[in-house]
Amino acid sequence: MGSHLSRKLLKDKHRVICVDNFITSSEENIKELLPKKKFILIKHDITKPLHLGEKVDWVMHFASPASPKDYLKHPIKTIKVGTLGTHTCLGIAKEHKAKFFLASTSEVYGDPLISPQPESYWGNVNSIGERSCYDESKRAAEAMTFAYWREHQIDIRVVRIFNTYGPRMRFNDGRVISNFIYQALTNQDLTVYGKGSYTRSFCYVDDLIEGITRFMKVEHTGPLNLGTTYEYSVLELAKKVIALTGSKSKIVYLPLPADDPKQRRPDLKLARKLIRWEPQVPLNDGIKRTIAWFKNDLKRLFPSS
Ligand code: UDP
Repeated sequence: MGSHLSRKLLKDKHRVICVDNFITSSEENIKELLPKKKFILIKHDITKPLHLGEKVDWVMHFASPASPKDYLKHPIKTIKVGTLGTHTCLGIAKEHKAKFFLASTSEVYGDPLISPQPESYWGNVNSIGERSCYDESKRAAEAMTFAYWREHQIDIRVVRIFNTYGPRMRFNDGRVISNFIYQALTNQDLTVYGKGSYTRSFCYVDDLIEGITRFMKVEHTGPLNLGTTYEYSVLELAKKVIALTGSKSKIVYLPLPADDPKQRRPDLKLARKLIRWEPQVPLNDGIKRTIAWFKNDLKRLFPSS
């Protein structure tokens, strides 16, 4: 997401200072930005203090492992970046009198008991479950952001990002779209967890970035849901990916992970009213673009196969 946002901000003539420790991403994603004068990369773990030498107007905090596979592998780092990392970023925003943006998540709703989920819903989260390192630290990040808003009058924007996909995802990040596309392109079985009846709504990354940059320009703290309202079951998605790749892969059914939310779909009323935003890229088109990108990336990573 950061690589897409950086491109959009540079296109809009901003100067971008990118801070990343690349725990779950690759420098390859920003390789073509590195020679640009208005792009600066600082390799740093944001859970440690950071003082920027030059003045910044916006601090946008996206740092965190965000795929269940990644945050299960790094539960402590995930909690640290959601709490200590958010603290560092809020400190920078305070020092620079900058606007602060928090990339929060639909995971704050946990396994939701109502659907679709409006921003006013408080959620249904297991505070000690396997996903809690992510869910609870993002909830703490929201709480800390609003505390800084109340106590220090920091100008804040909190977005709750629903499932997002597109080019430059890691083929092995474990998320459902990247998994299915990778499996289909390499003629492996598509791994559907449970019966494949759990649902998600999937937003193409360009739509999400457009929503975020619009939100930065209006006066509202959020939280604001961004995602799409078209809900698909995991099984429907698997069949779609097989059809769109023309793969010979079959579907296999594996056990469900713990605390996997059964459904997820944003209520977008606030986004429509506040930033006049509606996702533009239909799932089929977005998946086709993502497949094309994955094909190239797999060639780059495995030239001989
Ligand atoms: N899922 C699946 N097979 C996979 C990867 C994920 O059936 O190979 C399911 C997962 O159990 C969940 C949904 O797809 O119900 C979305 O999972 P993902 O890891 O993409 O993100 P989440 O929305 O759970 O954060």
